[in-house]
Amino acid sequence: MQDYDELFTVASECPANRKTNVQATLDKMKDHVVARNGKPYSWSINDFQIGCPLGRGKFGRVYLAREKSTKYMIALKLLYKSELVKSRLEKQVLREIEIQTHLQHPNILSLLTYFYDTNRIYLVLEFAARGELYKHLQQQPHGRFSEPEAAKYVYQVADALRHCHLYKVIHRDIKPENLLLDARGNIKLADFGWSVHAPSSKRKTMCGTLDYLPPEMVTGREYDERVDFWCLGVLCYEFLVGRPPFESSQQEDTYRRIQAVDVKYPDHVRSPARDLISKLLRRNPFDRLPLTDVMVHSWVVTQKALMK
Ligand code: AMP
Repeated sequence: MQDYDELFTVASECPANRKTNVQATLDKMKDHVVARNGKPYSWSINDFQIGCPLGRGKFGRVYLAREKSTKYMIALKLLYKSELVKSRLEKQVLREIEIQTHLQHPNILSLLTYFYDTNRIYLVLEFAARGELYKHLQQQPHGRFSEPEAAKYVYQVADALRHCHLYKVIHRDIKPENLLLDARGNIKLADFGWSVHAPSSKRKTMCGTLDYLPPEMVTGREYDERVDFWCLGVLCYEFLVGRPPFESSQQEDTYRRIQAVDVKYPDHVRSPARDLISKLLRRNPFDRLPLTDVMVHSWVVTQKALMK
């Protein structure tokens, strides 16, 4: 888990005359993350030029920024300590920092480093140039993805989740709003605010978004990493249909439909995709298709191959 070399290596597309500079910055970031007991480089806001706002989250503002000496582009997330304390979110942020610092995977958004001053905490995040997947979904004809595009994203989210589960991290809040796209259109799983590091014990907290809640969380039962399998099924449905499967005007109806696993497929959703979704949307978590099987499911494999 602690092998940071890949994360802090200069990207191959970096221009040759900038490589030394960029590597120096990455080394400083690595030093900050890894050598906490030594004398790590002290980052401050003065190291960055702040650019346009990229978005606003539940309790933070995100700006495009670049490190001054190397022009290395990052996304800088600003969190106000007073707001965090007021909303009792300190623990959630610490969890997000701890988890995201340690998970390294091409489809998981990297937290490169972090620092703070009197009033704010700053998270230095990998920049996901194409932004939210949710907006991209809304811009599609009929607000839904083609099968190849949906299959590509399902595969990449499954791979990212598999990596989380390998390190006993359950994401618990998978939805299009928490998925970003990098410059090449690949998934970057973000927002680990709700995720939990659960070494062995099963959890009982209720969290996540209503439409994506699995039956065991709706009914307050114990749950494990298989909640993320369910969410992947809901996600796949939303990719292909344009709305989540249990959406209702009344919250009570959504709860009822989740518990009854009441899924209705529009005609355009073909049976190979239905097969995958129905194997993930199972009431009994142990009946759900494991992530490694999702990645080799025939619909995923054949459709992903058609993606240009
Ligand atoms: P968050 O507070 O993490 O929910 O972020 C709020 C919004 O900022 C997101 O919905 C994105 O639109 C944008 N954003 C956050 N992180 C990044 C990033 N690393 N790269 C690009 N945009 C981001």
